[in-house]
Amino acid sequence: GKPILQVKNLQKYYPVRTSLGKTKAYIKAVEDMSFDIYEGETFGLVGESGCGKSTAGRTLLKLVEPTNGEVIYRDEDIFKLKKSSLKHVRKELQMIFQDPHTSLDPRKKVGYSIEESLAIHKIGSKQKRKSLALDILKKVGFNEEHYYRYPHEFSGGQRQRIGIARSLVLQPKLIICDEPVSALDVSIQAQIVNLLKSLQKELNLSYVFISHDLSVVRHIADKVGVMYLGNLVEQASTEELFSDPLHPYTKSLISAVPLLNPESKREKIAIQGEIPSPLNPPSGCVFHTRCPFAFERCKTEVPKNNHIHNKRTVKCHLYDE
Ligand code: SF4
Ligand code: MG
Repeated sequence: GKPILQVKNLQKYYPVRTSLGKTKAYIKAVEDMSFDIYEGETFGLVGESGCGKSTAGRTLLKLVEPTNGEVIYRDEDIFKLKKSSLKHVRKELQMIFQDPHTSLDPRKKVGYSIEESLAIHKIGSKQKRKSLALDILKKVGFNEEHYYRYPHEFSGGQRQRIGIARSLVLQPKLIICDEPVSALDVSIQAQIVNLLKSLQKELNLSYVFISHDLSVVRHIADKVGVMYLGNLVEQASTEELFSDPLHPYTKSLISAVPLLNPESKREKIAIQGEIPSPLNPPSGCVFHTRCPFAFERCKTEVPKNNHIHNKRTVKCHLYDE
């Protein structure tokens, strides 16, 4: 079938004033990023903190103004939509955050918070909204009694389930989950990930799952994109990415994850140094300052997105034709 969402050459730069106040510099948060998401599929977006994952997630819903690129949803470029159509699209493209606290009003009973998102989109009568809120609370494992409770009466994992309910009540097609389990205990993480997976099956949802944790992404994603300094340096099916990582950065990330199967062979790639500043990213390949395979050309020439097979891509000169 066709992708539900196509991201093409997404770019997000933040202007910053230099100390002289005259010349403008840019934080290059997202650079030339392209990927597709299919119905019912999870696209995992991984990378270290500060690599631009969250900015990418927000930009593709136009929650922050894009610098360049296209995001095609239902044959329309989200970036070109008028305010009213954008509002309609936003209903179908929801976001879940790391800390559901920020989206839940502490003074409101959680049932009201869920109904509120329906009211904002002018969906249903007051009575209808309440029954929809109750239905969705049940879907994430609560009952009528929880409807009348306040956010502080719930644990972190429970609040995340309420956050999920709050976006689900709008019947979205795609949800961008930005580090949804990172603040939770490991045992609770699995519960939330499994809940997201079963809801996906039941409701045919698509997810963009943003995380710095490869083992979580491996558990939920069908495809994975690896980000480094604003660049999507590699993308592949989860299976291929973990069994045969191509980009030196992906290799280093994967070699740091404990082996599930101790007999499988794996290259040990250790990278040195810190991530450079996105305000002044390295020339050529952004990874060249830390890459053990870097050669002369890597310092000057930006690698193109090499297509390997099966929509697998890698931005690295080692795979140039
Ligand atoms: Fe390393 Fe060069 Fe490939 Fe960049 S392009 S990842 S520096 S080998
Ligand atoms: Mg983030």
